[in-house]
Amino acid sequence: MTSVLWFRRDLRLADHPALHEAAKVGPVLALFVLDPALLAPAGAPRVAFLYRTLRSLDAALREHGGRLTIRSGDPATEVPRLAREVDAASVHVTADFNPYGRRRDDAVERALGGVALVRTSSPYAVAPGRVTKGDGQPFKVFSPFHRVWTQHGWRAPAADIAGQVDWHPGVDGDDIPTDPPLPDGLELPEAGEAAARSAWDAYRRGALTRYADERNRPDLDSTSHMSVHLKWGAIHPRTLLADLGPADEVFRKELAWRDFYAAVLYAWPDSARQYFQPQLARMTYASPTSKAFDAWREGRTGFPIVDAGMRQLIGQGWMHNRVRMIVASFLVKDLHIEWTHGARHFMQHLVDADLASNQHGWQWTAGTGTDPSPYYRVFNPITQGTKFDPAGDYVRRWVAELRAIPGKAVHEPWTLDEPPATYPDRIVDHATERRVSLERYQHVR
Ligand code: FAD
Repeated sequence: MTSVLWFRRDLRLADHPALHEAAKVGPVLALFVLDPALLAPAGAPRVAFLYRTLRSLDAALREHGGRLTIRSGDPATEVPRLAREVDAASVHVTADFNPYGRRRDDAVERALGGVALVRTSSPYAVAPGRVTKGDGQPFKVFSPFHRVWTQHGWRAPAADIAGQVDWHPGVDGDDIPTDPPLPDGLELPEAGEAAARSAWDAYRRGALTRYADERNRPDLDSTSHMSVHLKWGAIHPRTLLADLGPADEVFRKELAWRDFYAAVLYAWPDSARQYFQPQLARMTYASPTSKAFDAWREGRTGFPIVDAGMRQLIGQGWMHNRVRMIVASFLVKDLHIEWTHGARHFMQHLVDADLASNQHGWQWTAGTGTDPSPYYRVFNPITQGTKFDPAGDYVRRWVAELRAIPGKAVHEPWTLDEPPATYPDRIVDHATERRVSLERYQHVR
């Protein structure tokens, strides 16, 4: 009896519990469905990175005598069609906990009729819904979630069985498309399971030991960049956690944030679009069609750390976490534009775009989300710049107009005797806009 392993956000062969279940049934046919509903909102960098990850998965499958069958269209049509073609006994997936994924999987399950859709494991260390308060309710605050998450623990990585699986040779389908045109100069990391594994091995032998001290420093670039691989499941957080030692608590905690936001989105699916703290939706906001929004998107606000971050987003499809917070705070508190618009822009450009981490990262920074991150905490883009990019290296890397300015003076080019003529003036006065934000907040709190 053939089983179908429908890959989604688990594009790897190692540490793959759903593969274990599929292999128990019989020859395993590997399937990926190019779903227009997921591809349409993604920008070219993320789509290209997905295609590269798929090519790598296909190559790995071929080494074991299989291959990836690709179909394009609505999974509720394509998955049952393929299951009928190969007379599959069951279709196996890694469970999806996102709002769209849950609806899609329910529709596929109905359309499969008598063929079982078997959900195994999840893209998280601990599946959403497992870590709860004593009364079974979901957590809204990270710290107690983190405590219970740590007590709950997670499974060890599943054994690597790819070499022993009886892989189905695949059936006719589409090709993995060629990469869409990418913005000039875009730097994408190497994609795929082997690349993820070797990037992780290099990281844990190198910068991981400095993570606790340097994780907030965009100039030092000491974070793991694992988010792009975790996004498509080229590596599983279990694999990362298994390699961490007692000294890596700070890194472990960041993986808990990923699980936390997934759990929050699972419990409150509407929080992907709506204010987690609904009263803040009533505040007065500025129009996202303003020139200020364009300046923010293009990295022309006149605030060097903000512009550096927004240009890194375009240049790499990735942004350092500290800078994500700075630019998000700037959009909401200095330009008074709703977090939803910034979140959409991020989802379009980030290679690691993840609905739960992105929407809740935005809500947290905007002060509208989970946890005690109050609205009135407003990031000062100048002091954030001088504190976390003390020598100005990060700004100089991304903002060409400021490259000639040495040291931390790069964070306040307007104080120079001769400010660079090509760099824009500040589009707002931070102190004034901070006051405006706080006044508006007083009306709705
Ligand atoms: P590291 O610092 O090396 O951390 C290791 C892993 O822990 C990350 O790969 C990630 O999976 C997880 N992690 C770290 N910090 C966070 C966090 N604050 N929240 C959730 N998980 C975390 N992360 C995404 O993966 N996709 C997104 O779309 C996304 N959007 C964000 C938007 C905003 C406004 C903010 C403030 C944060 C967002 N994050 C997002 C979280 C975080 O910025 C990235 O996970 C991190 O920068 C990725 O780089 P890294 O892999 O080097 O992280």
